Amino acid sequence: MAFSFCSFSSGSSGNCYLVRSSSTALLVDAGISGKKILEGLRATDTPEELVKGVLVTHEHIDHVKSLRVLSKKLPEAGTYANGGTWTQIEENVPEKQRKIFITGEAFSIGDIEVKPFPISHDAAEPVGFSLFAEGKQISIVTDTGYITEEIFAEMRQADILALEANHDENMLKVGRYPWNVKQRILGNKGHLSNVAAGNCLCRLMDECCDKPRRVLLAHLSRENNFPEMAYQTIKNVLEESEHYLGKKLQLNTMMKDEISMVYKV
Ligand SMILES: [Zn+2]
Ligand SMILES: [Zn+2]
Repeated sequence: MAFSFCSFSSGSSGNCYLVRSSSTALLVDAGISGKKILEGLRATDTPEELVKGVLVTHEHIDHVKSLRVLSKKLPEAGTYANGGTWTQIEENVPEKQRKIFITGEAFSIGDIEVKPFPISHDAAEPVGFSLFAEGKQISIVTDTGYITEEIFAEMRQADILALEANHDENMLKVGRYPWNVKQRILGNKGHLSNVAAGNCLCRLMDECCDKPRRVLLAHLSRENNFPEMAYQTIKNVLEESEHYLGKKLQLNTMMKDEISMVYKV
């Protein structure tokens, strides 16, 4: 049986992903309505009882919007977050469903191993996740101002990598956001630009080129990016250093409010 990934929505307006093995399904973040999440489960033929956990990356509203609703709709699923994140979201989840993990320490839910790792973002204790099952790895890296060495190490062996391509820097700079918001997004604890995502993939191709991988561009800004722009910018950055899309590196863009195809590894 395959290990698979599907996005129910990805972007600054709301994030929710489904990761599924043969016997376990996990949701990563709940930043869209509970109704849309249940629609996503139906669209992917995922029985609600299969969902054993909701993993939370950090407390920003585009990641936790429907935690309260979801913990009622999926009473068997635990909500998993680290101590720092729990201080911000505690009242959204009934005590019996609260599960705590330690950043950097792997744990298992059903037959999926979950490894939370630190990212660089302006939240209490933000994390990305690597998920392992059936000998394969899916890693999720969004909401990070830059790619730390620790994040890069997590990506190296990922078969599927959901990678943030949040904004086009020029669009952001000339756009309507106030100065302090622009500084926040551009800063080390903000969001990854298209070019930064492209540079990260170049390094990945240079250092770990044997591994075929699928990269899914994630968390695109509604204001400061377009799907075609993110894709083309990253393709250009790759081609400038003689890396080409193909079997070794497949690239897709995930959209807001749109259920993606189910990517199997
Ligand atoms: Zn955030
Ligand atoms: Zn976010």
